[in-house]
Amino acid sequence: MRDLPLLSLRRPALFYWCLVYAVAVGVFLTSAFGGPPPTEEEIRDFGALAGVSALVIVVTSACDPFRAETPQNLWAVHVSYLLAGVLTLPSNLVVLLMIGPVLQGVLEQRPEPHRWLFTTAATTVATFVACLVAGTCPNHYENNILGSVMVGGSLLGARALLVGCGFWLRKPRARPHEVFGEPLDMGVGVVAVCMGTLTAMVLLADPLAVILLAPPLVLLGRATQLAQWRRSAQRDAKTGLTNAVHWNRLAREVLVRMRARQDTAAVLLLDLDHFKRVNDELGHLAGDSALAAVAELLQRVAPRRDLVGRFGGEEFVILLPNTDPVAAERQAERIRLAVCGLAVPTTAADGHPHLLTGLTLSIGVATSARFGYELSDLMVAADSALLSAKNAGRNLVTFA
Ligand code: GH3
Ligand code: MG
Ligand code: MG
Repeated sequence: MRDLPLLSLRRPALFYWCLVYAVAVGVFLTSAFGGPPPTEEEIRDFGALAGVSALVIVVTSACDPFRAETPQNLWAVHVSYLLAGVLTLPSNLVVLLMIGPVLQGVLEQRPEPHRWLFTTAATTVATFVACLVAGTCPNHYENNILGSVMVGGSLLGARALLVGCGFWLRKPRARPHEVFGEPLDMGVGVVAVCMGTLTAMVLLADPLAVILLAPPLVLLGRATQLAQWRRSAQRDAKTGLTNAVHWNRLAREVLVRMRARQDTAAVLLLDLDHFKRVNDELGHLAGDSALAAVAELLQRVAPRRDLVGRFGGEEFVILLPNTDPVAAERQAERIRLAVCGLAVPTTAADGHPHLLTGLTLSIGVATSARFGYELSDLMVAADSALLSAKNAGRNLVTFA
């Protein structure tokens, strides 16, 4: 039973996820079998909307030549047609539109079904919330753009809140933009609400004309990838840390601010000692696990304002803003000791589990108090300090 990915969630997350599943099933059943039977006109509108949504999902999920490279996330498309449904259809037909996210999950054969099932459940509950809000806004779609936008906002907001809480309970140390999305995601959400409102208007005017909205919806599906593409261009895939190019850009910005305020800053350059031996003795996959574990530790030990990046290979770099030389040394020592105590569960090259211990690293430190605020000067100085630490026997912190 423990092998079930859902059961590996932290207790509060498991409880919350199960609660959302249960509420979603309750909402689905009461909505699908409640209310008066739909009229012929409503069934026709439902058919048009469901047909276009299915077409968009099939085109984006099954016909995209790049689908193997980047996982699809069509949340904005789902929000659009669900909102159109909430604005035009009775709730017993709206919940049937949830077949859309399920269809996408089946077509893409998602590797972690419990995760897309959770977002689908959260979307179902959010759609129900939007139905309740729509019920309190009479004539919400005809001549009442404000009402439609309010319903759209409630669908978007409730979904973000439900999914965000689930993510936060799973990863309590996640940053706000990881939990609730980036400004780019919010922009896509606004477009989704506008598309949903327009789809509802077109549906009421001429159900067949809804087909004209299929291409913009496919494009909206592409737009949901923007934040993900941006993130993968900025992150190092192996460790999840900021990559060297992006770290450089961010560090320069921070140093400009530090110089303007005459605040102190420090750069730490960290290099794992004798890391080649780990690869030679345990294999490169074990080496990769060790790198990921060190990266995770650095993020855990570093305060949020510190900028942690992967410099390359088995080297990491940290910019400490508002940090004087004494505090920089304290922080570097803390990191060095934490790495000494690290125990990484790995699989050795012979396939047997192995607990990797005894990792150490050397740290070179350069401070703005001595080398100014030019990143290149600080990096050269930190690199030469790191070389001194290696020459002095490793597992040391050395100042430039
Ligand atoms: P030193 O104490 O002098 O730093 O010794 P070292 O063995 O750590 O340094 P060296 O520069 O000789 O070797 C670095 C090693 O890091 C060699 C390379 O295979 C390994 N390495 C670099 N990047 C990766 C990676 O992404 N994954 C794995 N598994 N190993 C990596
Ligand atoms: Mg190195
Ligand atoms: Mg090394």
